[in-house]
Amino acid sequence: MQKLYEGKSKIVYKGEDDKTCIISYKDTATAGNGAKKEDLPGKGRLNAAISNLIFEYLAENGVKTHLVKVLSETSVLAKIAEIVQVEVIVRNVAAGSFSKKYGVPEGTSLKNTVVEFCLKSDELGDPMINDCQLTAIGVATQEELDELKSAALKIDSLLTSLFLKAGIRLIDYKLEFGKADGEIILCDEISPDSCRLWDADTDKKLDKDRFRRDMGGVIEGYEEVLKRLKEALGK
Ligand code: 5GP
Repeated sequence: MQKLYEGKSKIVYKGEDDKTCIISYKDTATAGNGAKKEDLPGKGRLNAAISNLIFEYLAENGVKTHLVKVLSETSVLAKIAEIVQVEVIVRNVAAGSFSKKYGVPEGTSLKNTVVEFCLKSDELGDPMINDCQLTAIGVATQEELDELKSAALKIDSLLTSLFLKAGIRLIDYKLEFGKADGEIILCDEISPDSCRLWDADTDKKLDKDRFRRDMGGVIEGYEEVLKRLKEALGK
């Protein structure tokens, strides 16, 4: 397979034609923009399985995504998209950088869903950026940003109810979008690597914070998320 790009947690290969690519999930875990790095056997398989279940559920509910088909336990065929250089962060409960920045204790439910934009740039550490700044530097148009925001809110309402059914509080997460055939579609992955997921009864963390904060039991947390999602989806 011809490698097109290798990221921190995935490798992208050439696909079946010039409109598709193969995305392969790696076992590597990184945090702090690559400062902390470890191999966690099984992570790629778990993230692929979780993200595929979520992308299929979103597609069934009218969200356009890059997923074409699942190829193996760790790889998918996806539409090639021109990635919008914006990370869309969605928050239902205060945690992480939001708690630090605004002095709101982790675990505080937010009165409304927060959608934040960050400039996608490893070099700059993905800084938070507003609509006005994004349009000023030509990263996206206001129309595109409005579309990202409304897609994020639709995804949030679908995901919040899915995770609740799985006994999981969807605290916050990151979404990425791309443009293909003139449409904005959901890309990348939605997994415990990119979401904060807490047990609904105990607030036990089942996501990458277990790795970031040296809590141990990372793979066990991801396995629990997969098991509960399968049950919630009847799969
Ligand atoms: P925070 O801003 O608190 O660091 O992150 C908010 C949410 O977005 C968390 O669920 C976190 O996992 C996710 N997130 C933010 N930036 C990134 C990123 O660069 N990569 C990944 N995988 N997730 C991110």
